[in-house]
Amino acid sequence: PGEVAVSTSGFEVRLSSNPLDANLRNEILANPGFGRFFTDHMVHVRWTKQGGWQRGEIRPYGPLLIDPASPVLHYGQEIFEGIKAYRHADGSVWTFRPQKNAARFRASARRLALPELDDETFLGSLEALVSQDAAWVPTPQNDSEECSLYLRPFMIGNGKSLGVKPAAEVDYYLIASPAASYFKGGGKPVSIWLSSHYKRAAPGGTGFAKCGGNYAASLLAQAEAEEHGCAQVAFLDAAENKWIEELGGMNLFFVYRDGRLVTPALSGTILEGVTRDSILELARDAGLTPEERQISIDEWRDGVASGEITEVFACGTAAVITQIGELVSEDERIATPPVAGEAVSAQLRKRLLDIQYGRSEDTRGWLM
Ligand code: PMP
Repeated sequence: PGEVAVSTSGFEVRLSSNPLDANLRNEILANPGFGRFFTDHMVHVRWTKQGGWQRGEIRPYGPLLIDPASPVLHYGQEIFEGIKAYRHADGSVWTFRPQKNAARFRASARRLALPELDDETFLGSLEALVSQDAAWVPTPQNDSEECSLYLRPFMIGNGKSLGVKPAAEVDYYLIASPAASYFKGGGKPVSIWLSSHYKRAAPGGTGFAKCGGNYAASLLAQAEAEEHGCAQVAFLDAAENKWIEELGGMNLFFVYRDGRLVTPALSGTILEGVTRDSILELARDAGLTPEERQISIDEWRDGVASGEITEVFACGTAAVITQIGELVSEDERIATPPVAGEAVSAQLRKRLLDIQYGRSEDTRGWLM
């Protein structure tokens, strides 16, 4: 058992007595994959209905002891976030717009009847864990290597109660995992499967929240996508089966020949992506006209056929910006022809990565 100290962000620190050997860690960092290896420590903060949030701690990474009657195991009372920490050339480590994740985490908590975690504790937990396990943040070997430390905050309804009601005991954790590029094959355009049977979210449901249940509900559609050789699944709206919403884990954008950049409007049924929001801002710098509105599957098909839509891409923290080469469904294939010259999506991708990896000036104060 390690000594107890207090970190600069006010977390009690209980250090691991057997951190991974540096040689083994470096072997992992050279080829981390995604979500397979975890750092030596994690953050834990407990909440009770009587006492509210308690002082958080950094403690050794390891399994949780959980009551079999815990609400999270039966009713899925859970929310999470996904953030990356990037190492810059000078060795410093930065997260990108984590205040947005803190706010989204609070919005998710409200929807799932979980207590809101204040932004100071949320942001402090990121800082505390990244500082503690800084050796786990991979160093990019060149400008095209997109390695990072993926941070996964999550909150569960805990305690012992099978009553269908909000948990009276709640735990917040933060774990971290070194990550390479998300899609195998790097920046190549991917095929996307259009789900015709399954819906991700419905009006009044939990689509805008980042809760485990949304992802459990998407897994079968995702498996169907993979059976059809596709990397991800695209969902249409539940009411009219007509409007494009998003992918299982990414938002969507459409580039028009005349410079418009269209993304589905936030309807309550899609996740408000931090990357999506950042692209809307960067688009103006790139001379594009961003539009948030409804876009139908017919507009996608007709726009690609007429050449009015020149690029389709998906975006998210994990895969940054990924071009969509084709949309595949049971009865059709909508293939976007390759772009002549430099793609708009490639330009936006570079702008974003240059900020995240500290290769261009952070004029908006997006890095923490
Ligand atoms: N939509 C869904 C359903 C997601 O899970 C994610 C990943 N968090 C996104 C969009 C993209 O969000 P962000 O840019 O904040 O990663």
